[in-house]
Amino acid sequence: MKHIDVKEIFNNPFYIGKTVTVCGWVRTSRDSKNISFLEINDGTTFKHLQIVIEKEKVSDFDRAMKLGASVKVCGVCVESEKNGVEVNANSIEVLGDCPQDYPLQKKRHTLEFLRTMPHLRVRTNTFNAVFRVRSVLAAAIHEYLQSKGFVYVNTPIITGSDAEGAGEVFRVTTHDFETPYKTREEYYENDFFGKKAGLSVSGQLEGEVAAMAFGRIYTFGPSFRAENSNTPRHLAEFWHIEPEVAFAELPDIIEIAENMIKAIISRVLERCPDEIAFFEKHFEEGLEAKLRSIVSNDFAIVEYTEAIELLKKADRQFNYPCDWGCDLQTEHERYITEEIFKKPVFVINYPKDIKAFYMKQNPDGKTVAATDLLVPGVGEIIGCSEREADLDKLLEAMNARNMKIEDYKDYIDLRKFGSVPHSGFGLGFERILMYVTGISNIRDVTLYPRTVGSIR
Ligand code: ATP
Ligand code: MN
Repeated sequence: MKHIDVKEIFNNPFYIGKTVTVCGWVRTSRDSKNISFLEINDGTTFKHLQIVIEKEKVSDFDRAMKLGASVKVCGVCVESEKNGVEVNANSIEVLGDCPQDYPLQKKRHTLEFLRTMPHLRVRTNTFNAVFRVRSVLAAAIHEYLQSKGFVYVNTPIITGSDAEGAGEVFRVTTHDFETPYKTREEYYENDFFGKKAGLSVSGQLEGEVAAMAFGRIYTFGPSFRAENSNTPRHLAEFWHIEPEVAFAELPDIIEIAENMIKAIISRVLERCPDEIAFFEKHFEEGLEAKLRSIVSNDFAIVEYTEAIELLKKADRQFNYPCDWGCDLQTEHERYITEEIFKKPVFVINYPKDIKAFYMKQNPDGKTVAATDLLVPGVGEIIGCSEREADLDKLLEAMNARNMKIEDYKDYIDLRKFGSVPHSGFGLGFERILMYVTGISNIRDVTLYPRTVGSIR
């Protein structure tokens, strides 16, 4: 179907005075005595294109006046003081009718209401803006890491290991509801892979394999967690960016993470000014200033031990008490970043007992070289650590957790054959998107959110 993108019409003065064909969905319609107006959107830009219909000139446009209808318009492009440019219609063809029961009739619907119709909510301004930023952010991540010499690798989605020894893995099986097997061993031996398999919670362990050959690598793909937590920040299926860097210690990887966050936010500011203005107006006052200040200021760094002291001194009652050794809850994380530092903060050197087996043990014998990046409004967006490169210490940490050493043979070999200091982090793609857009529920930055008790 020969037509011109609405975006081209707005960006290209060449079309003024020319006859053009445009397509789109009707977003508003207004009728007066001799003239009617339509605003259409074709998804190529956030802006709607106004169509002016002189009733005498155009026949059979009634069906085009319905919200949600899809139309093809032929007309002359003219300059307009209010809209920049608009189209005076010569003819209108309705491609698809849209009857009155189209659910998006109001100008603004609540996000909760829109969640009930993931297939239609994408046609609203909010989702148009979210997904445009999501796409720009994804490209910015690839561009940034590629420009720094990182090799993009794809780690397996189905795995035979569970990255952290945690129990939140979705199982992958071809077995039916009823099986003839009497024991667990027999059950798994007769399953598709001949052993227990699941969906990956993280590509890190395989990412380390690649980093031990290519130096700097990253993954960008889905991770799956069967977390039974119904929060505004957890999905069962989320997108995960996991850089892994050889010859890098904790301060090196912190620098990489900070620089990457700044670079990608800077790109979004540059490429999505209309969308950011929209989020500023409807979702988070001060958003643009916040993002600009991220780009031009240093992030804070605080020792876990000091963070605990600060929390104990806080003039605030927390639901969960905290003491040295406890894991920080969302309320603690948000207090640290929102009230104490008022900017992104790396909390470093956590107690080893609350962190994963692969994290490098510090000389104090109590902590590991791990850090979480906390940001105002969201909480944790990055989990990061230097990895334990010493074979004996790694085995000791695995034994302390009663892990089956034989399941990690490849991982252990990395420490046996030319081990090097290395570090990496995991950035939650939807979490950073929440931060950049000011949208406060992770379900609203995802096309089809999967959460506990909900799939569509
Ligand atoms: P949280 O404490 O917020 O549950 P985590 O410590 O379990 O996160 P990590 O294992 O450190 O998460 O994963 C790295 C990053 O992946 C997190 O910092 C976060 O940005 C993102 N992430 C983790 N779990 C989820 C989830 N269920 N939904 C969306 N993003 C997630
Ligand atoms: Mn974490």
